[in-house]
Amino acid sequence: MAGYLDARPRVGYFYTGKTGTQLLTENLNKLYVKDYQSIPVVVNENVSVYDAIVSMFLEDVGTLFVVDANSYLVGVLSRKDLLRASIGKQELSTLPVNIIMTRMPNITTCEKDDLLIGVAKDLIHKQIDSVPVIKKTDNGDLEVTGRITKTNITKAFVSLADEY
Ligand code: ADP
Repeated sequence: MAGYLDARPRVGYFYTGKTGTQLLTENLNKLYVKDYQSIPVVVNENVSVYDAIVSMFLEDVGTLFVVDANSYLVGVLSRKDLLRASIGKQELSTLPVNIIMTRMPNITTCEKDDLLIGVAKDLIHKQIDSVPVIKKTDNGDLEVTGRITKTNITKAFVSLADEY
């Protein structure tokens, strides 16, 4: 099961010749977004920064995805986006999140059939904590169906160790 040995009918067991690193890479390339994603937490683009902060605490997440009236993805809000807005002199209960969010087309996304390792590389290269899992409609709009965070990647990492 570890991949070092294989079996063939009438031959028996034989050594596959694969190194531990090759086997680890093979196993990494079997981990897909759909098997590790979490439920996304979204807010409407018109809600206030104050309400977004409350949602972040109540839902216990570090990133909120921002959607328009049709529930399509338009932005991302991180903890620091909300902190930055809070140290200014603005009135948080009247400031809409669409003023401060990171907006499309600058959002890094992934799809359910993508490999998790590709998302992990995006998190590192773009220096972000979370990526929305999206489904593109025929019109090119993006429905948010899930999220992958550093926690999901950590869980996948641990699952590799638990297999053997
Ligand atoms: P924090 O800002 O709390 O450290 P992040 O590292 O996730 O959290 O976010 C850094 C910046 O990148 C923020 O301005 C945030 O809006 C933006 N950001 C977060 N996730 C994404 C994403 N998936 N695509 C594009 N930008 C993002």
